[in-house]
Amino acid sequence: MNLKNPKLLETRSFINGRFINANDNKTFSVTNPYDGKTIAEVADCGQSETLGAIKEAQEAYRSWKKLTGTERGQILRRWYDLQMENIDDLATILTCEQGKPLVESKGEIGYGASFVEWFAEEARRVYGDTIPGHQRDKRIIVIKQPIGVVAAITPWNFPNAMITRKVAPALAAGCCVIIKPAELTPLSANALAVLAKEAGFPPGVFNVINSSTPEVIGRELTSNSIVKKLSFTGSTEVGKILLKQSADTVKKVSLELGGNAPFIVFDDADLDKAVEGAVAAKYRNAGQTCVCANRFFVQDEVYDKFVQKFSKAVRAQKVGSGLSEEVTIGPMIEEKAILFVEELVANAVERGAEVITGGRRIGDVPSLFYQPTVLTNVNKNMMVFDQEIFGPVAPIFKFKDEDEVISLANDTPYGLAAYFYGKDHSRIWRVAEELEYGMIGINTGMISTTVAPFGGIKESGFGREGSKYGMDDYLEIKYMCWDIGNG
Ligand code: ADP
Repeated sequence: MNLKNPKLLETRSFINGRFINANDNKTFSVTNPYDGKTIAEVADCGQSETLGAIKEAQEAYRSWKKLTGTERGQILRRWYDLQMENIDDLATILTCEQGKPLVESKGEIGYGASFVEWFAEEARRVYGDTIPGHQRDKRIIVIKQPIGVVAAITPWNFPNAMITRKVAPALAAGCCVIIKPAELTPLSANALAVLAKEAGFPPGVFNVINSSTPEVIGRELTSNSIVKKLSFTGSTEVGKILLKQSADTVKKVSLELGGNAPFIVFDDADLDKAVEGAVAAKYRNAGQTCVCANRFFVQDEVYDKFVQKFSKAVRAQKVGSGLSEEVTIGPMIEEKAILFVEELVANAVERGAEVITGGRRIGDVPSLFYQPTVLTNVNKNMMVFDQEIFGPVAPIFKFKDEDEVISLANDTPYGLAAYFYGKDHSRIWRVAEELEYGMIGINTGMISTTVAPFGGIKESGFGREGSKYGMDDYLEIKYMCWDIGNG
């Protein structure tokens, strides 16, 4: 790996301000999904290191919470500056372990850093409240305080930004954190730790534990009563396990889980704009994001035209190594992921779907490249309707009217992101209000930004990340009822 600052390629875990090997010196391999080659051997920590990190975080919390928001913000701001100074290296590490094209990796580093910048500023705006008393001699004051030690478990599809989106508000609020990154992409997390150390966080405030046995670490983080809050981004299946495990210690939990995003095109939509948005919403990160458009619904009048324009744009995508400049779609993350996409496409084709473009793996196993794919003649009885595809496959359903498409769009346990294109203002309001999703893109396929609340409803989870709402998940509300006497 060609880095300007080779120090960023750190393989050890980060606990109490020090980089450490696993107690038993075990390691696990990190591979590049582009060619399957091992790029690093990473310290493989377990339960005892996790317990150690929790105790150190608890100790560090005693003084971290006492700093002013401005003081904490200054360290966060330094961390942000360092991330931006090292953006090229951080992006290279990300592409090598995750596969996404370099331009997307740079986008992710900028996006990830923007949360650090935002919460560095928000740190000093944790306002409380005064409430007119309920009796003549009573005064009521509300303050917000950090919740305590926070655990964050993050996924491989955004190995950088899913960490900063959780950690920045937690640290700004005055919490200390332990991060358990995905075992497929630990290097981006470790690089953030290198920069956190340089930024000057006191030991124990920010900790990273890598492990090839996430269930062991997860069990400790969820059952330990010192940990007051768990923030998780990942699959609905694992989210449910962690929520159950957190019940015994009644932890506050935030979950950002799977999605099944509808992408609706009404007959009055600007089709070229819709195609552009559709490509961005579907094929970013080879379709491996929880807000990726999963089901396309196009009104019958414009259906053929949309399919034709969209397929043309899809055929123009360049698949290959994320490090090549012209590439727009990289490999999928692992064999399991590509097998699932193959199963979904086979199931659709068996039930009558037509493959307009793509439809197969590029090359033979162990190649992790899948052709960008468009399917038509699809229906509700296919897996592509109710499963999160998490790959570069776009099924395009046809609908007749607004009522039908709203009911189809909401016919899923998920409720993360939804997109629609159209011009009629009354319909825009109606549809936006009827869609049971936490985030709605109206005439746009890109909705993620630091300044807006990211999160879902239904089985997509709860809690919001980013924006003025993002710190609430790491704060407790305390109210003081003060009897001033009759004087
Ligand atoms: P994906 O399907 O996207 O890989 P997962 O939900 O499996 O998503 O993984 C997201 C994160 O959850 C990763 O950091 C992974 O290591 C972690 N994880 C997976 N299983 C468990 C578990 N049983 N307990 C705690 N963490 C887990």
